[in-house]
Amino acid sequence: MKEYRGIPASSGVAAAPAFVLREDEELSVPSYVLQPDAVDEEWRRFLGAVEKAKTEVEELRDKARVAAGEEQAAIFEAHLLMLSDPDLFDNIEQNLRDTARNIERVIVEFERELVEKLAGAEDPYLQARAADIHDVARRILSHLLLRERLTLADLEVDVVLVARDLLPSDMISMNRHRVKAIVTEAGGRTSHVAILARAFEIPAVLGLGEAIEEFEAGEILVVDGGRGLVTSDPDAATMVRAEASRNAALALERELALLRDLPAATTDGRRLLLKANIEVPEEALPALGHGAEGVGLFRSEFLFLQPGHVPGEDEQYKVYRRVIESMAGRPVTIRTLDIGGDKVLPELGALDEKNPLLGWRAIRFCLAKEEVFLTQLRAILRAAAHGDARIMFPMISAPEELERAMTLVREARAECRRRGHEVPDWVPVGIMIEVPAAALASDILAKRANFFSIGTNDLIQYTMAVDRGNEKVAYLHDPFQPSVLRLIRQTIANAKAAGIPVGMCGEMAADPAAALLLLGLGLEEFSMSSASLPSVKRLLRSVSAAEAEEAARDVMAMSSSAEVSAYLAERAAFIAARASKENPK
Ligand code: PEP
Ligand code: MG
Repeated sequence: MKEYRGIPASSGVAAAPAFVLREDEELSVPSYVLQPDAVDEEWRRFLGAVEKAKTEVEELRDKARVAAGEEQAAIFEAHLLMLSDPDLFDNIEQNLRDTARNIERVIVEFERELVEKLAGAEDPYLQARAADIHDVARRILSHLLLRERLTLADLEVDVVLVARDLLPSDMISMNRHRVKAIVTEAGGRTSHVAILARAFEIPAVLGLGEAIEEFEAGEILVVDGGRGLVTSDPDAATMVRAEASRNAALALERELALLRDLPAATTDGRRLLLKANIEVPEEALPALGHGAEGVGLFRSEFLFLQPGHVPGEDEQYKVYRRVIESMAGRPVTIRTLDIGGDKVLPELGALDEKNPLLGWRAIRFCLAKEEVFLTQLRAILRAAAHGDARIMFPMISAPEELERAMTLVREARAECRRRGHEVPDWVPVGIMIEVPAAALASDILAKRANFFSIGTNDLIQYTMAVDRGNEKVAYLHDPFQPSVLRLIRQTIANAKAAGIPVGMCGEMAADPAAALLLLGLGLEEFSMSSASLPSVKRLLRSVSAAEAEEAARDVMAMSSSAEVSAYLAERAAFIAARASKENPK
């Protein structure tokens, strides 16, 4: 038996055999010498994979043409040319015959040489071709290697999924009923794997580092997502403890479920709003089950992350309408496409960049790809005719971006009307405050936006200059840092001064101890993965706004995160103990 510690990312306890997904290039591409009579067959294998890749690229090109225009389609057109280039084929065949190595290894070597040559070229056009070669080579390889990732959708037995990292699209397409827990080498509490694991209520321990190399496919792992603990080769006592924790969690869930229909109001009568963050439309109903009073953040980009599929206006409209109707009159805030960063979408032209977190992300991407943006805005406005919908822009960092985005909302509305669709005259348009620049200019932005939602996952990332998905610096991704708290306080104060609602949809809002501080700073709306709603509601119902304000005053005078965290944990524990004494079960 051996225990490993990682980052607790999604609570719950599960035990199942490990399913190890290895995606390291060098590991996943085997290398062997062919028998002399196997070379022809190997070449045919290559040609077969090329044909499959061509069909796939043709589909991507057609979709890109509709969704993103000719410029984008041209990238795939260039890939098709490569996939039929006789010189390239001659070279690869020659290499295959000279080295008699398996074709995957030949492709990897050939790609490496070519990419090195192109990347060293002076001409930026040639440098850019390196990315195309890489993309085409990956595509052919994935067919030769039988697309290991696709098996995630086909899982037929219960597993603990072990991987270096998982793409958002893996999380969306995997068979969620069979993945009992997730363990990864990389990642942090607010990485998208963590967010989706919490959304799907799958226990997860992330950021285990190289220790995951030790896990063997098929060995039993016990994962305790709340404590960040993974146990391999567990003894009988560990299995019994795991079962006991599962039962205790179920009992607590049943107890908290009693709060579902009670209002989120403090003991001195301040009414707060508790809403859910959702990533896929199927989360709307469970959110209601956890007592959500609306959707505070619908991460619409997950609709776009199905590999090879770009949803058009009608398809998006149906999804947004479905969520709005499921929420039966409660407000639904749809965040416009937030791609780039770790959410790469080659189909729309968002590609790997040198500095993706500081690059062509979110609203920046949408303002450059107006057709993609207008299509989404039309779909949201049409869906808004069926309930209470709001539009929210991610990653606004300058007032000009907000102005331009609002102009495009007006254009989208006018276009809907020209096409005969019914759309509301007014839909609230708000912004996420998730870049320090936006928090610092929140007095200016508050004059233009109809509401703010503080996205602490990114706000912390950009304030502390720390990649939120990098386990090595995860200790700095900390909501209680004085710098972060000052930005939050300033944002809330500026929203209040301008008379607009202010909420939070970053993960900080899901921590009951942090909720005490946020209440004291004047936050009105808390939006989070819906499973966390009951415990935050319990805290908010057990405290007075006056008491929270006093706590906030104490905290804002502190000079370290450790001090803040210890103080809030103690206050929250005291409040919980007091509440259970006053209301014994
Ligand atoms: C955030 O940044 O806090 C946020 C809620 O958005 P996301 O996690 O999707 O980046
Ligand atoms: Mg964000």
